[in-house]
Order: sequence, then structure tokens, then C-alpha cells
Amino acid sequence: MLSVSPIRAFSDNYIWLIQGVRDPALVAVVDPGDAEPVRRALQERKLKLSAILLTHHHNDHVGGVPKLVQEYAPDVFGPANESLPGSPKKLREGDSVDLPELGLQFKILDVPGHTAGHIVYVGHGALFCGDTLFSAGCGRLFEGTAEQMYRSLSKLAALPAATLVYCGHEYTAANLKFAQTVEPGNQAVKDYAQRCQELRARDAATLPSNIGLEHSVNPFLRAARDTVKHAAEAQAGHALQSDTEVFGAVRAWKDGFK
Ligand SMILES: [Zn+2]
Repeated sequence: MLSVSPIRAFSDNYIWLIQGVRDPALVAVVDPGDAEPVRRALQERKLKLSAILLTHHHNDHVGGVPKLVQEYAPDVFGPANESLPGSPKKLREGDSVDLPELGLQFKILDVPGHTAGHIVYVGHGALFCGDTLFSAGCGRLFEGTAEQMYRSLSKLAALPAATLVYCGHEYTAANLKFAQTVEPGNQAVKDYAQRCQELRARDAATLPSNIGLEHSVNPFLRAARDTVKHAAEAQAGHALQSDTEVFGAVRAWKDGFK
């Protein structure tokens, strides 16, 4: 099992720190939006930064790259179709990232929707998914269509149920409030909300989640369920013809949800 720990940044970002399986003192970080908390974690834990993995171009995910590159000269990897700091090696679906120093390897999936070139990293029973899949939620559609995002999420939903889900933000509690509105009768959502409330009360991360759990609590992965379809139709005020339309209606509903 991979050793992964969260580094907090800004108000609710997680920069994931992955320790090498060959040498646990060598690490990779995912989406370092800020250099300072990464630098602090490396110093406190006597770790060496060997690689940076980027999922998409938003500044709260890449803002720390220039300073970290200057100070530690790690290998940098990122999506082929986005403009990113640190001159990353370009990755697209079908590629894999080899980190021999760390003994780690990840496969790449293209997941357009939140941004046009967003990628995710899959390997060692873990998924690093940036702002595409959140626990009980998904990213906003800034540069893509509902069709693209639904297809992207369906790729992630097809990963093995035990796959651990490391997302870019601590949004779980707010997402579960929405999930309860969409499916008030979903007991898995109620149980998970209770568990997350306890975790947040002691300031612990609700992540990682896992794909199996997301199938039972995440309304954006449940567009094919009658409960979600009926709730989305009631909200939209008309019939929805496909799972993709249901997904789009739920996403629009969430955009206006407080
Ligand atoms: Zn983003």
C-alpha cells in the first residue's frame, strides 16, 4: 500500500505527498498550489522532493511549482494540453509516469470537463484526481461540457472499488449536504455524513475516499439511478432522456445550491 499524506494549503486544498516505496525519504507531491507548506513538510519530515505531478492548470494546483523547481529541481509531469509552469513532461491518456527513484509508476487518464486538458494519475491502488472527482461531488464545468465530464467520471467509476480516491479539496461535508437533498432516502449518504462530521470535528481529513464508497454516496456517479433521475427531473421541471442529461441537470442544480 502506498504511503500518502495530506499537506494543507489555502483554505481547503490538499497537496498529496507520496513516499517512495523504494526509499520512503524520497517523495512526489501532487498539485502543489503553494510552495511554503510543501517546503515545511519536507524539512520537518526530512524528505527529499523527487517529482511533482500536476492534474490541471488552475493556480491553486500549480502556484508553488516555480519555487519548488528552483529549490529542489524535481522532475515535473503534467497534462499535455495545458499551459503549466515548470516545463513539465507532457502526459496524455495511454501514457504512464515512471518514477524509478521512488519505485512508483502511474497510468494516465484524460478527464476533460473541469478543465479541457485535466488528467488523473492511477496506480498502486490509488487515484489522484485533482478537481474532477470529489468525495460525494465533482468539479465544476469550467472548460468542458456535461457530456465530457460525465464520460470522464465514468472512466473513474470503472476503476476497482477498492481504489483510494485522493481529491484536491476538502469539500466532502458540503457535497454530502447536497447529496442528502438529491437522495434524502440514501442511508449510505446519512452514515457517511455522520462519519465525516466526526472527522471534521477533530480537524481530520475526510480523504481518501474510495471508488466503492463513491458509487453509493456520490450523486454525480448515480445519474443512472431512478432516485437521482426523479429528483433531477423534479428540479429541472421536465423529463430527462439520458444519464448524461440527468448528470447535467444535477451539476446545474449543485451550481446554484447553497
Ligand atoms: Zn481546478
